[in-house]
Parts: sequence; structure tokens; C-alpha cells
Amino acid sequence: MSNPIIITIDGFASTGKSTIAKKISSHLKYNYVDTGSIYRAITLLSIKNGFLESGSINLDLLKNSLDESSFFLNSETNKLYFNQSQLDDEIRSYEVSESVSLIAKISFVRSFVLEQLRSLKISKGLVIEGRDIGSVVFPNANFKFFFNASIETRVDRRWNEMIKKGIKISKNKIKENIITRDRTDEKRKLSPLIIPKDSIQIDTSNLTIEKVFDKIIELLN
Ligand code: C5P
Repeated sequence: MSNPIIITIDGFASTGKSTIAKKISSHLKYNYVDTGSIYRAITLLSIKNGFLESGSINLDLLKNSLDESSFFLNSETNKLYFNQSQLDDEIRSYEVSESVSLIAKISFVRSFVLEQLRSLKISKGLVIEGRDIGSVVFPNANFKFFFNASIETRVDRRWNEMIKKGIKISKNKIKENIITRDRTDEKRKLSPLIIPKDSIQIDTSNLTIEKVFDKIIELLN
């Protein structure tokens, strides 16, 4: 398709971006991409292959590995594949969350992801969420949103998600991870987390999923 409609949702960790992006994309029958899952998959690969150990990263090995890697979006199912394997819940582990922002600030990792994202095959339109989507990946997107929410709301949401998956974790540990990740994401030199200047900001703290969804659909109309 020559000019698909692109809707970007950027924002802080655990502000509801994925839930809303999925709901909007399924309503509009657009494709959906969660770009955080791409950085998470690269982090998991680094952990599994020993490129990342005790916070130190073997850049040469990671680079060689990415040179032979690719992501693929099944535009029918919206499932993402990394080197032919479908991404699963393993990328959501606490271990991955702890290191993902370190992997995401590496220049060649960001160039690799940018190239992969720009070459995705999109059928009708795209709802895509992350940290630098409206600012760097698709600066000419048709609609841009930016989400924020209070730290308490975000911790509760992430904690509930983990508990549902059977992962036992303290709220304090989650809070620490969210704050550290946001700080690293905001402070990095390359495509930091910023509010794109032409974006619509939404604070999701006191809004239900339905309210945020309705608000966005109304704005799009
Ligand atoms: O969205 P999620 O919380 O899964 O993202 C995990 C991490 O991936 C973020 O904390 C950030 O370090 C990185 N990320 C990024 N740019 C994006 C999306 C995610 O740097 N566009």
C-alpha cells in the first residue's frame, strides 16, 4: 500500500500504550506493532547467548548477531517474529525489563530497529507504539499521541499484569524498574523519550481503557 495511515502512541512505561494501541488497531482493522517488544527480544537474545552478563554487554558479538537477524510482522495476525520465532511472554520477564533500556541506548541497535520498522509490510494502516515513534521513526505520522500516568497507577497496572501471569514480585521492585527505565529512556543521547511536538497528550491515570479508547476514536474522527 502506498500511503497507509499511521497512528503513533509514545509515552512512559506502563501507561497503557499497548492495551489501547491493540484496541484501536483491531477497531480500525489496521496493523499493530509494539516496538518495546522488539527491544525486549534483542535483550532476551543477548541474555540467552551470553552477550549480556551482569550489566556488561559484548558489543561485537551483539552486532554480529544482529547483522544476521531480522523481524517479520505477519500482517494477518499482527504477530511479530524474530528470526522466524514468534515473540512470546519470555520477553516480559523481570530480567529482561531490568536490562532492556541498556540495550535500547546502543546506537547500532537503534539503527537496526529503525531499519526493520521502516521496512515492515503494512496492509491498510498502522498503530505503532513505543518511545521515539512520533519523533524519529515516523515523524510524518498522521496522528500522534503521548501517554502519561501517575507512578502509583503505573505500578499497580504492571503488578496486576505480572500477578495474572503467575509472576510473584513486589510493588517496590516494579516501581524501581519503571523509574530507572524512564530515566534511562529520557536521558539517552539517541532518540530519547520525548513528547513529539505535534502530539496529543493523554493522562491515563484516572481513565478506564474504554474512556481512553473513546477519546482517541473521537479525536481521529
Ligand atoms: O514498551 P516497553 O515497556 O515494553 O519497552 C521496553 C523498553 O524498550 C523501554 O523501556 C525502552 O528502553 C525501549 N524502547 C525504546 N524505544 C521504543 C520502544 C521501546 O527505546 N520505541
